[in-house]
Formats: sequence, C-alpha cells, structure tokens
Amino acid sequence: MSTIFSQIVEGEIPARIVYEDETTIAFLDANPLAPGHTLVIPKDEYERLNDVPEDVATDLYATVHRMVPAVEESVDADATTVAFNNGEEAGQEVPHVHCHIVPRFQGDGGGPIHGLFGGPADLADDKLDDIAADIESRA
Ligand code: 5GP
Repeated sequence: MSTIFSQIVEGEIPARIVYEDETTIAFLDANPLAPGHTLVIPKDEYERLNDVPEDVATDLYATVHRMVPAVEESVDADATTVAFNNGEEAGQEVPHVHCHIVPRFQGDGGGPIHGLFGGPADLADDKLDDIAADIESRA
C-alpha cells in the first residue's frame, strides 16, 4: 500500500503543494508546528534516508536548499529548524522520507534539537575514538 505522501504525489489526496519538480515535491504540513511548516519529499517512496539513492538524495537536498529561504521569507521567520525523523524510533510516523522545514521565531520556546535529550551522553574518550574509527571505516 502506498504511503499518504505517495497519495499526495499522485494527486489522490489534497495538499498545499508549494514546489514540485521531476523527482521531489514540497507541501505544507497538515499539522503545522509553526506557520509555513513545510515537508520536502522524494516523489518515489523510500522509507528512510538510508534507502535513498545518491542521485535522488542530491535532488532532495537541492529542493531543501531552495525551500528554506522561500519558507523563511514567506512567514518572516528569524530562522528554521530543518530535520528528518529518520526511523520509527526517532519519531518517524510516515514511512516515506521527508524533511521538515519548521520556521522559528525569536522567543517561540521551541529550543534546539538538543532539547530532545536530557544532556550529552556520557562516553569515555577511548569509546569515542572507537566509534569515530568505526564510522570512518563505513563512510
Ligand atoms: P514524522 O513524524 O513522520 O516525521 O512527520 C510526519 C508529518 O506529516 C507530521 O508533521 C504530520 O503532521 C504530517 N502529515 C501526516 N499526514 C499528512 C497529510 O495527509 N498531509 C500533510 N500535508 N501532512 C501530513
């Protein structure tokens, strides 16, 4: 079964589409966290960032890059939080990759993404060295 976002791509359910090209589309979030909250997605269905082919990832970022200033200017935002919930455990509810562009305003109380956690993880230097080496070997 196709995701709700594929149904938007196909025009089967309505959405406030604000940009579209061959491979990507941007539309307003139906439950906006702030005025102008926009989602940017690849038209093809990939569940996670990890599944997105490189050429589509390039297109996706190009659309994010285009939409961030457009969104900020349209609602006169001071800044934006730009984020992916990448996987269910990270809070992803719709299994179709999407980038949130959430306008931010001075004093909106939203805080940084660091606010998702109580504070930094307590990791010893040798553990951090191991993790860095392991990530580097896979990059
Ligand atoms: P997630 O939690 O998966 O990162 O975010 C999914 C987002 O999609 C939510 O912010 C939610 O409001 C939005 N959303 C869910 N269903 C629809 C829909 O049918 N139309 C639009 N425009 N947004 C939706």
